[in-house]
Amino acid sequence: MKSQTVLNYPNRKLQKAALPVKYFGTKELDALIDSMVATMRLYRGIGLAATQIGLNMQLAVIETKDGPLVMANPRLEKISTSTEDDEEGCLSLPMIYGVVPRAKSLVLHACDQNGTPYTLSAKGLLARVIQHEYDHLRGKLYIDRCIRLTAGSDKAASLGIVVSGP
Ligand code: ZN
Repeated sequence: MKSQTVLNYPNRKLQKAALPVKYFGTKELDALIDSMVATMRLYRGIGLAATQIGLNMQLAVIETKDGPLVMANPRLEKISTSTEDDEEGCLSLPMIYGVVPRAKSLVLHACDQNGTPYTLSAKGLLARVIQHEYDHLRGKLYIDRCIRLTAGSDKAASLGIVVSGP
């Protein structure tokens, strides 16, 4: 399976809100999703958004214990007000890690690979990854929400990334 090149910060395509996926069930979309999953696995990520490979589409894949979850045109609901802090990284910010507060739980409404709507209640790590990928599709990166870098602060500084604590 052909993998894709992952764009690195500060590529401007990473900071642009994506447009909804309109056509499902096409060979092109199926091949794209397969190659996104292959790319995520190649780089040992647990999620990959289309914006990270330069596509302006509301589409992401997430690794779960039941296999890859396709998240197209997502909407988040019932986002818990209680948050928890944990470390995140991003394939578009290699070698940089930081602590990000995220809602503990949420309900995801999205479409699968075939355009079929589904609803998923998520908490913990899955809720975190969903929020991270959802942010990508709105042109946001975890460093926009990061309260403290845990690794790669020299590299972050060289990229002009400023993290302001709580
Ligand atoms: Zn990311």
